[in-house]
Amino acid sequence: MTTAEAAAVDYPRDKNGFPLETCGRCLGSGQYSYNALDGTRCYGCGGHGVRHPAGTVAKLAGEWSTIIRGAKQVNTAAYRDVATGEVTCDLQVGDQIAHQGAKVWSTVAGVEITDTVVGGCRIGMDANGEMILRTQTLEVWITYADGTRERGGYLLRRRPDVEALRPVRDDLAARARTAYEALLASRARRAARRA
Ligand SMILES: [Zn+2]
Repeated sequence: MTTAEAAAVDYPRDKNGFPLETCGRCLGSGQYSYNALDGTRCYGCGGHGVRHPAGTVAKLAGEWSTIIRGAKQVNTAAYRDVATGEVTCDLQVGDQIAHQGAKVWSTVAGVEITDTVVGGCRIGMDANGEMILRTQTLEVWITYADGTRERGGYLLRRRPDVEALRPVRDDLAARARTAYEALLASRARRAARRA
């Protein structure tokens, strides 16, 4: 077995398969000198003692956490693009979302986007620096599987479609491992040259 193959076999990974290294700041203890914001918790690793290696691995792990954060939230407003008339809404029939103060999970059975403009809008600048209206927010009514209705317009918690996201996660994690294994191999070559 070559050094690169040996390195590829065994190293710490997080639960999603992204490589982890011992935090260089706290050397794995998770503790560091006291500061008013974090106490003695190491801010290099959030107190975990391990972190994603800086560079490509940290970037890919960050991409995954952005995706999963977005998947866990749904904006229940609808937006109409003033220029094109195109209407977009994140909420989909079949989404499982937490409502009634986030205490109940319900399945969305219907999304009715009305023509009623309810204010909130995105504003931009035209070529002359004039403020222009880019989107209008439209009133949305959500019907749940139990027949209850709720007016949208809020950010609600959504149960992510794990099956759909798994291939995306696995691809990002595989790319992170490839990058990390290349990093380990180049470190090994440098160490061999020094020896
Ligand atoms: Zn640390």
